Amino acid sequence: MDDAISTLRRWIQESDNIVFFGGAGVSTESGIPDFRSTDGLYHQKYDYPPETILSHTFFMKNPEEFYRFYRDKMLFLDAQPNAAHRRLAELEKQGKLKAVITQNIDGLHQAAGSKKVLELHGSVHRNYCMKCGKKYGIEAITESQGVPRCSCGGIIRPDVVLYEEGLDSTVIQESVMYIARADVLIVGGTSLVVYPAAGLIDYYRGSKLVLINKGSTHLDSRADLHINGKIGEVLGAV
Ligand code: NAD
Repeated sequence: MDDAISTLRRWIQESDNIVFFGGAGVSTESGIPDFRSTDGLYHQKYDYPPETILSHTFFMKNPEEFYRFYRDKMLFLDAQPNAAHRRLAELEKQGKLKAVITQNIDGLHQAAGSKKVLELHGSVHRNYCMKCGKKYGIEAITESQGVPRCSCGGIIRPDVVLYEEGLDSTVIQESVMYIARADVLIVGGTSLVVYPAAGLIDYYRGSKLVLINKGSTHLDSRADLHINGKIGEVLGAV
């Protein structure tokens, strides 16, 4: 692993066009569970599997139950950025990293100081009324009980992409553009099984694809550099 970290360090030193693409594993060292690790959400027991509760159909049919799960399991408002978030923000400040593309909805990259953050699956910090479109902050969810309501009577929902819903095409297009132009693409803390997000790495045309994960993924063999480790520790060391 030391050799791989030295190579990553050198690639970072030599590049001014790095793009990072990450997932839930980037925030586990901040105390936010991912979905698919052994201690992740998919291994905890609920009346319904998380992908059912977090689906558009379920939300429309059972908003009360959705919000019970969502407030309990999807909001980690005391979580702080870890070494991975901080290092990525630093690299952007130094002009080396052009964008962070994330599947996370926790806002921790921005909290660490990153400016160009493309949130493929939205953010828990943005919410809106489904009837009149009025925008709300996170307080609309945390300071209410049951199903949060707008002053117009409509239901307030989080600006996060639920299962069965499409991704924002502008965010996708911008992500494709950054990845297609990247010199170094660092992919970290994602199981690469949630599509269309995972398919984005197919747009990378360079020869420095770095994969950092504490386990294995089905795309390990495609990486030019594969680092098996915790992303905060790895990025904190380069
Ligand atoms: P996932 O749960 O499917 O996979 C997480 C991956 O990260 C796993 O492969 C795991 O081995 C790896 N991992 C965990 N901790 C790590 C660490 N410290 N260092 C390196 N690797 C680590 O997550 P996903 O691929 O992002 O896809 C699931 C969906 O979950 C996404 O759509 C995302 O929106 C959502 N999600 C987001 C959050 C969040 O915002 N923090 C949390 C849970 C789930």
